[in-house]
Amino acid sequence: MPQVLKRGRSADEKAEDDAKTRAVVEGILADIGARGDAAVREMSRKFDGWDRDDYRLTDAEIRDCLSQLSARDIEDIKFAQAQVKNFAEHQRAALKDIEVETLPGIVLGHKNIPVNSVGCYVPGGKYPLLASAHMSVVTAKVAGVPSIVTCAPPFQGRPAPAIVAAQHLAGADVIYCLGGVQAVGAMALGTETIQPVDMLVGPGNAYVAEAKRQLFGRVGIDLFAGPTETLVIADDSVDAELCATDLLGQAEHGPNSPAILLTTSEKLARETMEEVERLLQILPTGAVARQAWEDYGEVILCADDDEMVAEADRIASEHVQVMTRDPDYFLERMTNYGALFLGPRTNVAYGDKVIGTNHTLPTRKAARYTGGLWVGKFLKTVTYQKVLTDEASAMIGEYCSRLCMLEGFAGHAEQANIRVRRYGGRNIPY
Ligand code: NAD
Repeated sequence: MPQVLKRGRSADEKAEDDAKTRAVVEGILADIGARGDAAVREMSRKFDGWDRDDYRLTDAEIRDCLSQLSARDIEDIKFAQAQVKNFAEHQRAALKDIEVETLPGIVLGHKNIPVNSVGCYVPGGKYPLLASAHMSVVTAKVAGVPSIVTCAPPFQGRPAPAIVAAQHLAGADVIYCLGGVQAVGAMALGTETIQPVDMLVGPGNAYVAEAKRQLFGRVGIDLFAGPTETLVIADDSVDAELCATDLLGQAEHGPNSPAILLTTSEKLARETMEEVERLLQILPTGAVARQAWEDYGEVILCADDDEMVAEADRIASEHVQVMTRDPDYFLERMTNYGALFLGPRTNVAYGDKVIGTNHTLPTRKAARYTGGLWVGKFLKTVTYQKVLTDEASAMIGEYCSRLCMLEGFAGHAEQANIRVRRYGGRNIPY
């Protein structure tokens, strides 16, 4: 039985937070549905102190943002986007259209068709999270999405130059400077000035993630990708400094970002808790990270690697950093995670910012049923069928007719019967 050495907020407290978020989001979305742009502007003023007639950035504004970055910044963004593109292209190549003859004269196939228009949300409340532009926009491009709209909130009262540069360099067709529920609500529902899209993608805070969840059905969504979570799995082959650094590196995302250590070493557990305290004193983002660590941080001691696998699968964390003697043991056995970071040489920041795997990943246990954003999320795998011969139509028609009647569907059965008569020259014997 795992032993909890440090605990975060209780399930009841978390449920209370969720209920409040749900209610706020419901209200804002209903208002946008009813009043369109007027509601969007009101919310943007209220939450971001940001007001303009048209939230779409002009070409001149985009050029101005680009001009505020150094050549090095631009090169770094391009490097990261090239890595994301490269991996997404390999993943796309692995997705084949198929057409097979499953019975003589019967041909079934599937095709992967890109969604026609997507809205990519790039978070930017606390930090200008430009990497999310690579993850959504570049990947949508590789999938072949014809129309890509993107939104990010203002940062410190104006469009964040680095986000806008990343959105533009990634190939977005339209860039809005608009954040939060009002951004995803406007992209999904449409307003007088914002065209509705078919699908929303991208991460965000609890409000943004909840808004996407509530909008699902009106539009498609990629997945539930809310406040960042990290799980470090470690044994005594690593030191406390590395563990504490990797916990706080993700806890700094926001006050509700869980950072959990799972270990077989009580010594490492205790030393990591001390090291976290030391690092919190010196980390410039220590205030946010401290709140996350106090409210959501956990330290769990396990008996062995198998118990860590079971516990990690139960937690189903967005990020899982494995720093044990045999990281592949976890790769082979774990089933619930957004992304794995295997061995001490890599870490979540590499994945978040540059290495090429997508950083938009499932949170709140969504890893039980989905992986993260990838090129396949932008593709609809749709099927088709052809029956090439009269014999095949009559043969499958007989089966179909009987199966329809088992369900009481006389109209369906007649669709089959007419073909058995026409192409097989016989009536169905019941
Ligand atoms: P954000 O852009 O997601 O949210 C900012 C917006 O929230 C603001 O524009 C504002 O309109 C809205 N907002 C703020 N307070 C509000 C309130 N009380 N009521 C209604 N709306 C309100 O930026 P952020 O806040 O910095 O959060 C980014 C989030 O994205 C973090 O939680 C981070 O962990 C998460 N993230 C998740 C993933 C993932 O894949 N799961 C990846 C990257 C980042």
